[in-house]
Amino acid sequence: MFHIAFGFHYFRKRNEKTRKGGCEFCGQEATLRTYEASKWFTLYHIIPIVPLGRKQIVHSCSRCSKHREAPIRSWKRSIQASFDEMERRYLADPGDLSTAMEMLHLIDLRFPEEQTIAFAQKIEQDIPGMETIGALAEWYEYLMRYKDAIRFYELLAQTEDSDALKRKRAELNFAVGEYTRAYTLLSSVTTADFKLDFQALFETAKALRRNGNAREGLLVMKHILATFGEQTKKESLFLDELESFETELHVAPIIPRRSLFRMEIVGPIVSGIVVIIGFIIANIVLAQMQTLYVVNGLSTSAGISVSGRMPFAVLHNEIVKVPIEEGDHTVSVTVPWTNYSIRVSINNSIIERFLMKHVFVVNVCGSGALIREKIVYAGSLASKEEPTTDLLVGKYFSALQGIDYPFTTPPEKITLDSAFKKEIRYCLFLSKADAIDILSSLTNFNSIPQPKYMKRYIEAHIAGGEKRLRKFIPLVERE
Ligand SMILES: [Zn+2]
Repeated sequence: MFHIAFGFHYFRKRNEKTRKGGCEFCGQEATLRTYEASKWFTLYHIIPIVPLGRKQIVHSCSRCSKHREAPIRSWKRSIQASFDEMERRYLADPGDLSTAMEMLHLIDLRFPEEQTIAFAQKIEQDIPGMETIGALAEWYEYLMRYKDAIRFYELLAQTEDSDALKRKRAELNFAVGEYTRAYTLLSSVTTADFKLDFQALFETAKALRRNGNAREGLLVMKHILATFGEQTKKESLFLDELESFETELHVAPIIPRRSLFRMEIVGPIVSGIVVIIGFIIANIVLAQMQTLYVVNGLSTSAGISVSGRMPFAVLHNEIVKVPIEEGDHTVSVTVPWTNYSIRVSINNSIIERFLMKHVFVVNVCGSGALIREKIVYAGSLASKEEPTTDLLVGKYFSALQGIDYPFTTPPEKITLDSAFKKEIRYCLFLSKADAIDILSSLTNFNSIPQPKYMKRYIEAHIAGGEKRLRKFIPLVERE
């Protein structure tokens, strides 16, 4: 089994010209070849079978290989006719740039390249101006005479440079192997654009390395990193290339790639650890900052020593606050008729330290009548919790929990829950007799506000607290 493949082939190519431009068929920027050739019907693309005559091939695309084709004689006739017509127009007005440029294109199709160049030089002399320079710059680029094109684009840039012009010159410099110059131009654009510049810079870096200038190539790689940052890190080819640069030049990794991944995990872990350490430190500090209340309900003063420290006196009806650290302590009490020691355990759990501290009370000889109040504020109304009041007498030491403030000492300030302002005000109004009861009344009333009485009754509440302290503490005495 074998296939017989027929096709067309061009032999004996002559007068070949290569140009750079947009292909009229596929629209891509390509190398376009124009030449004369003999067309043959072939077997296996190489064995000529039937001659089809001498042809002119015009702009054969390097990408899609489509082209225009005409029999050589008719092509020459038509190009000559166009040329004669164009020449008449040109001679009538040799100073018109667009006519001169059309003329130049026809000369390029019709005559060898030397004549084209000569005519381009004539245009340059005859029609001075930036417009001519721009047209010739593009012309030389089309001709793939890049060094000439660069010269003209540089002239343009001297008058007014732009990012587009810099990119164009960079591209042409790259094409003629001037990679350093290409990099200089690309790195000097005012607004770097990832789509436009990333690939060009990357290619420049690779070209520098290929041409034995890896060190400068690495500079370009670093420039890319600095310019495009995170975007660059998604380009695996770029990252691979960067690694080869690093290996070749024996430099430390510029982006520690694995640690990039690690930072995403390590970051939260580190902050978690910081929070935990902060919590532990806060706990230690809080554990050091407890208060021991020493209450003396006796009619005489008492000498107190806590864990062997300097003794101090607690006067009749006095409450002394002793700053103390957590732990088991020994409190020695001396009164005129006796002395004793008690073990006092001052301890909170971690949660209690932050949220619901104990109130630690040493009650001298159990003499103080302590009121333990649990106050239910208006905000807790929904919970149907009942306020409670206990009288504590006779205990030497208490670690009280779940109370709002120790003993009957009232809060210095009452903050009204905004949702229950009305109710609180009304209850304050109702409980003139004993302001402490205001708060227990809160559970029962839900009515009209009386703002003008509010301040007065809060004051009464505080006064009532003091009154209670006086009333209860001296109640029990042991003498
Ligand atoms: Zn094409």
